[in-house]
Amino acid sequence: MKKEILKRFDPQSPEYVIAHAVYKQGRGRGRRPSLSYKGEKNPQKALLLALTDSMQNHEERMAEIVLAVEAQNDRNPSTWKKIHKPSLGPYSEANPCVCLDCGQPREEWDEERICNG
Ligand SMILES: [Zn+2]
Repeated sequence: MKKEILKRFDPQSPEYVIAHAVYKQGRGRGRRPSLSYKGEKNPQKALLLALTDSMQNHEERMAEIVLAVEAQNDRNPSTWKKIHKPSLGPYSEANPCVCLDCGQPREEWDEERICNG
């Protein structure tokens, strides 16, 4: 591995510390990690800390992705939220905006416009 590859990582990131350790290892036996991380000056402990942080980052990212995919795949109508269906305008005192499903006037809709009608 060429040292160039390290430029792909943010030097502040745990991945940089890990990549640097792997890079050093690739240069021959007995090459030990040598970077500090988050103030930890012992390179072995710094690497361990970086690995833990990196894993944490990936778990959080994975959780985000799972949520996004689940939201996308939500085909279960019971969990869908129904929103108010506004009546046709133009609106006036004689023709106020109301929900066609529940009849509630627009002034009383909450911000999410959830309709129980
Ligand atoms: Zn409604």
